[in-house]
Amino acid sequence: MTNFQGVATEVLPVDAQHPGPEAIERAAAIIRAGGLVAFPTETVYGLGGNALDAAAVRRIFAAKERAPSDPLIVHIADAADLSRIAREVPGAAMALARQFWPGPLTLVLPKQAAVPPEATAGLDTVAVRLPSHPVALALIRAAGTPIAAPSANRFTRTSATTAAHVLEDLDGRIELVLDGGPAIVGVESTVVAVDAAGVHVLRPGAVSLEALRATLREAGHDIPVEVARPQAAPASPGMLEKHYAPRARLCYVRGPREDALARLRKELDAAAGQQAGLLLPDDDLAALGDVVSATTVASLGPSDDLEAVAHRLYAGLRALDAAGVEVIFARQLTGDGLARAIDDRLRRAATTVIEVAE
Ligand code: AMP
Ligand code: MG
Repeated sequence: MTNFQGVATEVLPVDAQHPGPEAIERAAAIIRAGGLVAFPTETVYGLGGNALDAAAVRRIFAAKERAPSDPLIVHIADAADLSRIAREVPGAAMALARQFWPGPLTLVLPKQAAVPPEATAGLDTVAVRLPSHPVALALIRAAGTPIAAPSANRFTRTSATTAAHVLEDLDGRIELVLDGGPAIVGVESTVVAVDAAGVHVLRPGAVSLEALRATLREAGHDIPVEVARPQAAPASPGMLEKHYAPRARLCYVRGPREDALARLRKELDAAAGQQAGLLLPDDDLAALGDVVSATTVASLGPSDDLEAVAHRLYAGLRALDAAGVEVIFARQLTGDGLARAIDDRLRRAATTVIEVAE
């Protein structure tokens, strides 16, 4: 077990669009001194420490109780800093960075010696991202160092998309939370490894496979873009099966809407006597009718607005946990890149995945 020295965690409000220099400087001083600061990004809240300071990186792992085999993402504020972190940047990676940075795309590239092995779980590659959130950018610039920042939650649990979520998991373990309101996208970045053989999507996110392909095609890079299978990329621990999990059991039904809703009704019947929660879009809740009144509900917004669904996903899981439900029911939504990211998170968060066919 890790010993925590009982750090008093301070919460400092910041304006998300125009963060005040005083708050940012306070946070930056903590990072420079080897401390930990949670901060908003456009994906989820990050738990940041100096990426080039091995002791600070070890503290990130301790605070999260994260397995040392799960590497961190290093955040930079200027594309020119990429060469401080990555020793080789293939043309295809440059083209992706140019198109999607600042934003929710993480590139896995050969690492520079300056990045401590603790940050990369001993791998010879490093994950790098240039976020778009003004608070994240201001903090990295003021700290004057790249910031390693995994999601600001306990290992394997639901990611944090608000400062309150961060406190639920990390109060007393980190020096500061910069509270800039809710994270924007709500699910983590798309992670891609770029090598001579092509572009491998290690984790789906807001940047879709189609968008990656279109960008590479336009930039004249004729290389394959593939979703990596777990066995093809054993070195990507973000593909850990259990991840993002609520405390309650999660029953996740995959398949076409009508069949999935019919199956959900049956599962709800079978769970009678247990405190059940529903994590579903508004139109599903309406379709389930009177069943809904007997359950606790976290609405995801309209099912055809995947941005709203992604934005509410983790807050919904945490709200159902806070309401004390024993089992949560959710179903797969279909659509573009974000649908794939949401499906990936729910599959890993689930205790049971049920596939229904037409
Ligand atoms: P998180 O910080 O929780 O958003 O997770 C970061 C994820 O990025 C990890 O769990 C890995 O899947 C992925 N990642 C980070 N560094 C590497 C790397 N060097 N090689 C492959 N995947 C990586
Ligand atoms: Mg995480």
